[in-house]
Amino acid sequence: MTPPRPILEIALPVPLRRVFDYLPPDDLDTHKAGILAAGTRIKVPFGNRQMVGILLRSKTQSLLPADKLRSALSILDKQPVLDSQQLKLLQWAASYYHHPYGEALHTALPALLCKTRSPKPKTTNHWQLSLHGKGLPEQALKRSPRQSAALDFIRSHPGLSTRQISDAGISEHAIRALYQKKLIEPLPTFSEDLTTDIDNRLTGAETAVTAEPGLKANKEQQLAIDAITGARGFECFLLDGITGSGKTEVYLQVIESVLKQGRQALVLVPEIGLTPQTLARFSARFNRRACSYHSGLTDRQRLQVWQAAATQEADIIIGTRSAVFLPLKNPGILIVDEEHDTSFKQQDNFRYSARDLAVVRGQLENIPIVLGSATPSLETLQNALDGRYKHIRLLQRAGRASPPAFELIDTRTAPLEQGFSAKLLTNIRNQLEAGQQVLVFLNRRGYAPALICGNCHWVATCPHCDTRLTVHRKQNLLRCHHCDFRQTLMTACPSCHNPKPDFVGMGIQRSEDFLQQHFPDFPTLRIDRDSIRKESDWEQLNSTIASGQPMILLGTQMLAKGHHYADVTLVAIVDADQGFFSADFRSAERMAQLITQVSGRAGRTGKPGKVLIQTRYHTHPLLKTLTTESYHQLARSLLQERRLLDLPPFTYQAIFRAEAKKAGQAEQWLANVKKQLQQTSPAIKLIGPLPCIAEKRAGFYRYELTLWCRSRKALHAGLDKCFLYLEEEKTVNRCRWHIDIDPYFS
Ligand code: ADP
Ligand code: ZN
Ligand code: ZN
Repeated sequence: MTPPRPILEIALPVPLRRVFDYLPPDDLDTHKAGILAAGTRIKVPFGNRQMVGILLRSKTQSLLPADKLRSALSILDKQPVLDSQQLKLLQWAASYYHHPYGEALHTALPALLCKTRSPKPKTTNHWQLSLHGKGLPEQALKRSPRQSAALDFIRSHPGLSTRQISDAGISEHAIRALYQKKLIEPLPTFSEDLTTDIDNRLTGAETAVTAEPGLKANKEQQLAIDAITGARGFECFLLDGITGSGKTEVYLQVIESVLKQGRQALVLVPEIGLTPQTLARFSARFNRRACSYHSGLTDRQRLQVWQAAATQEADIIIGTRSAVFLPLKNPGILIVDEEHDTSFKQQDNFRYSARDLAVVRGQLENIPIVLGSATPSLETLQNALDGRYKHIRLLQRAGRASPPAFELIDTRTAPLEQGFSAKLLTNIRNQLEAGQQVLVFLNRRGYAPALICGNCHWVATCPHCDTRLTVHRKQNLLRCHHCDFRQTLMTACPSCHNPKPDFVGMGIQRSEDFLQQHFPDFPTLRIDRDSIRKESDWEQLNSTIASGQPMILLGTQMLAKGHHYADVTLVAIVDADQGFFSADFRSAERMAQLITQVSGRAGRTGKPGKVLIQTRYHTHPLLKTLTTESYHQLARSLLQERRLLDLPPFTYQAIFRAEAKKAGQAEQWLANVKKQLQQTSPAIKLIGPLPCIAEKRAGFYRYELTLWCRSRKALHAGLDKCFLYLEEEKTVNRCRWHIDIDPYFS
């Protein structure tokens, strides 16, 4: 009797919260189909399309009748592309974030692995035998005479391109097969290797792990290193060290011990801009391969790093958010640097927190994880206070720098010129004339300049959204920051023909113009998302700053991201209020982190630093605590406040957001969800539906329903029930919606 055909349970990248059953491809024999490994990519028909799915398991029975099952088309991998640990992590994540599993899997994969065609070697590749190919026993390919001939040809003609080899009568198919068997490899060329990313030092046990000796750790650092390297299996450490206390040196020495055990280190950092800096520091220290993984790489480069991590060709990987999903053959430690940074949370589609998933991954892999920050998030701090995380503090600066002095400027009494008080301007001038650098910080969100008519009160708004258009004077444009609608800046009010409409609020461009006019003898360098897009922009910026010439560095939130400004002696916070006193309950935490981070970047080479903060609320206890005591003191009072108000981290939140073209439809949909949750989950507190802050965006009306619960378990149980209901109810009241677990507002 022939055994029955196994049934393949497959996850597909579709927005449905379920998996799909298929029969194996018709030409695959039953035995082989039965032993396919989970994590293998399989091409399947779906409707009248083809898709790449991920095999979750083989099973003997399906809920569907056999004649309803379709056959898969082909198996795309010999080795699964996702290992069992990655599958576990992603399954956990999909369930925790209530996101369709198939979509979560595809978010994790590099783009080239999601295509229905396998990535082919590029035709411009020039080939040589790999180490493995060189050592292949003579008879090993005797069952594949074409591959054997191709290998012989490449052995005797190294360095030819795919085209040249196939011109000699060797099939491309054979070349590809040799490549897939790792018997040949492309010659490294400038564009093909990862240039700064992977350096070509030898790896292997015979070379020493370190290329240069570490710094002599101070007492606090040594305690931290001993605690972390002493961990057996999973343990979560909060490395809570003031800026400049030498956290990076702690990471380096911990990684050294991991590398000596022959294991890998994964380091998550918040910004692309930080990866080259961190990478350079790590590659200088170790004789091991270090790679970076971030959105600035090409698809092919991302795939290469993915493979290098999976095979342990790379021992150290430094990456942004999505690197948390990289395969690691032999992980030894996970590090999340600047763990408080909001960029670890993905804000669209699959809304995961890479920091939180890193902790889960540490648990799954049973390895230690380090969360590092000078300004830990309140969630993490509370975990440390509760004893769930081990709290390690570094209270001394490692280098020569001393902590900055704060001073508040009361803007209720000081007249402002373009947002700057005379006192602030005088301080800036004094520093510049003394040959120093000055850092001016603008809180971007509060400052988008609008075009308003002082005569008839007409305001330039987006025709598709509810939002005010932002003035971009350099481009002579009005732009919508939600839907990217653009229109030429008008010279007169379209409503009353007043020839001089006002610009209200101050954009960074306007401050740039103002500072340039005010200080014509000193350059003003702008640092924001519009002026810095690529890694190379960061490099250029860093070298200009490193020249040490007196200049003004004018920037937004980006200034606070881990850069060192050795010659900055004055930090000017133009307006602290927007940040401190906004409606978002996290805004005080964020602003405090920002001020502390920015201030900590300055005066690091021993020159004393000063921080000037303009505010209308200079007697407010929050600002007072921050400037006369410390971030940690402030964090404690914020935590008390959160506890009193039942806010995270003492409660757990989720938000449903819905949008529809017809007014009222999204609101109605959320009202239904609310009713359902009220009936089934009384423990969940509900607020809404309320219009989102920008109610209308790109022609859609947007509403949100906030869920609140003291018990994480009860919240998720309630959501599970709710999703079952939504599956059945999905034809009613169509609108686009998503759920955001542990949401951030900003
Ligand atoms: P953090 O990441 O905590 O802000 P860094 O690791 O960047 O701090 O260290 C700040 C500065 O102090 C760096 O210039 C670093 O080289 C120096 N440093 C760190 N540890 C030591 C040490 N043990 N001895 C001397 N200098 C150190
Ligand atoms: Zn718009
Ligand atoms: Zn007007």
